[in-house]
Amino acid sequence: MNSIAIAQLAELLAGPKKVFIVTHKNPDGDAIGSAVGWGRFLTKMGHAVTIAVPNEFPDFLNWIEGSAEVLLWTQHSNQIKVALEHADVICCLDFNSLQRIDEIGELIALASGIKVLIDHHQQPDSFPDVVFSDVTACSTSQMVFEIIEALGRKDLIDAGGAGAMYCGIMTDTGSFKFPSTTATTHRVVGELIHAGAKNAEIHQSVYDTQSMDRLYLIGHCLNTMEVLPKFKTAIIKVSKKDHHTFNIQRGDSEGIVNYPLAVKDIHMSVFMREDKDLVKISFRSKGALDVNVIARKYFGGGGHINAAGGVYAEGLDKAIQKLKEVLPEYEQELNK
Ligand code: 5GP
Ligand code: MN
Repeated sequence: MNSIAIAQLAELLAGPKKVFIVTHKNPDGDAIGSAVGWGRFLTKMGHAVTIAVPNEFPDFLNWIEGSAEVLLWTQHSNQIKVALEHADVICCLDFNSLQRIDEIGELIALASGIKVLIDHHQQPDSFPDVVFSDVTACSTSQMVFEIIEALGRKDLIDAGGAGAMYCGIMTDTGSFKFPSTTATTHRVVGELIHAGAKNAEIHQSVYDTQSMDRLYLIGHCLNTMEVLPKFKTAIIKVSKKDHHTFNIQRGDSEGIVNYPLAVKDIHMSVFMREDKDLVKISFRSKGALDVNVIARKYFGGGGHINAAGGVYAEGLDKAIQKLKEVLPEYEQELNK
């Protein structure tokens, strides 16, 4: 843990502060888990905390204690503006650039509060005053735990906060199977279980509460995916029409990108979903290929070595065409 940043943070939090916590758009388990875990800890420390996100998060995260108090820009923009204006400290969790949080990012750029970054994405922007950036960390939730530990206040982690952080670590490690999972990860989740995280219940709440529609959608995706053996790549596409056919709700397409990687000779999986005016793209890889590079270079996105995302503005077919155009550049890594 960065000891200079810990000292800065300890000084910043020495007296009661108004703290604003924000995490990225389309919040996932690590986004909500780290924000709520950090928020509950700061509240216990005696700070006044507001948590905000750009838009709705999936229903399978609703069980997280305190998630109902998270403000959404899409519904509570005035409350968010006021909280941000009065904030002494602004904590940015699980994202590396203010562009990832849309309008809230524009306001933060102008806000006077001290900006603290806690994140594990590559190449963070230079906007924060206090930086915790660890691209080797499996999740922001694990970083939050380690920061609390370094502050010497693990006693302030309650069962709700422990459950939130457990959820973040579990979802960002693909249930503790990605290479980012380390001995530290297992030590931390052990401590979180001691602090009250109900691990089996959390797995069930996140993974075993799906709708029949989602299962049919998964079936459709697997039946229609395109496999390119030369590049050990699978491409899944979901069109606007599919949204209607499969009654797709928020979060329903989450994780489908991972399925093709179960096949021995698939080293990259790309999931493309046609949204209102953009195609949202998810990349996953196993082995040598750094999908963050492809997402960043060609699809206006980024992320991590084995999991990244991006967008494409010219529709589903052109997005697939673009991907196929750039694949030869990565043929060697894909075949390692
Ligand atoms: P997902 O495919 O689950 O949306 O995202 C995978 C990873 O890539 C996450 O860590 C996420 O933060 C990052 N990511 C997804 N979409 C984008 C994007 O548009 N821009 C950037 N910079 N990162 C993204
Ligand atoms: Mn994360």
